[in-house]
Amino acid sequence: MNTNSMATLPGRNKNSTGMLDLGGRPTVVFCDFDGTVTTSDVTDVLLQQLAHPSWQEIEERWLSGEIDDCQCMAQQIALIDGAWPNIVKVVDNSIAIDAHFKSFMALCNDMHIPVYIGSNGLDRIITHILNRESIQVEGYWAYRLIERNKSWSLEFPQGEKRGKCRTPHSIACKCALLERQLTDKDPYKIVIGDSKSDFCWSTKADFVFAKAKLAQYCREQDIDHQTFVDFSHINECLEQKIAA
Ligand SMILES: [Zn+2]
Repeated sequence: MNTNSMATLPGRNKNSTGMLDLGGRPTVVFCDFDGTVTTSDVTDVLLQQLAHPSWQEIEERWLSGEIDDCQCMAQQIALIDGAWPNIVKVVDNSIAIDAHFKSFMALCNDMHIPVYIGSNGLDRIITHILNRESIQVEGYWAYRLIERNKSWSLEFPQGEKRGKCRTPHSIACKCALLERQLTDKDPYKIVIGDSKSDFCWSTKADFVFAKAKLAQYCREQDIDHQTFVDFSHINECLEQKIAA
């Protein structure tokens, strides 16, 4: 574990319901999916294995700023050639989850911490992988994958589900999920993630577990965080809280 950016979670109180309480507030976890729960990016793997090679030209147009990330993804998804069973086959052969994610979920369950998934990925595939792994989450926010006339398209969250950040190059953000929890209960919000799509909701979190690009962003923005390599590090951190 990289301790250079070590930050500490606030003190734990056990309230009358037995719910873990960090900083005197009930805790909620908001977790990214691709590259965080899974060990690789599902959309990238699908494009590499099932899409017409021109998906790479679209990627170049996105990298040069010509199109935004939602336009890029919508155009790339339309290039996927294969029915749902083909997609499932690729996902089941190629996509594994973090070896310690199930024990993380068990720990959160024991501590009555709800876990939400926020992903700029594909809802139907997230559901498939979670079912495959017998994992139940409180809810999730993702893009809707639609199958129509043997072709694939995406539907992006609209209205309140769109997120309020209006960040450049993106029409929707995961903050919609986090903002729904900003109720009168004011929960202690833990965000777990790895990439650019986690930047904006990490600024609204009380604590962040970060790796890769998100860890660098948290360092630069001075966001209270702990770096991690896999969920065993996050579990260690939570277990210390239980033992405290
Ligand atoms: Zn946002």
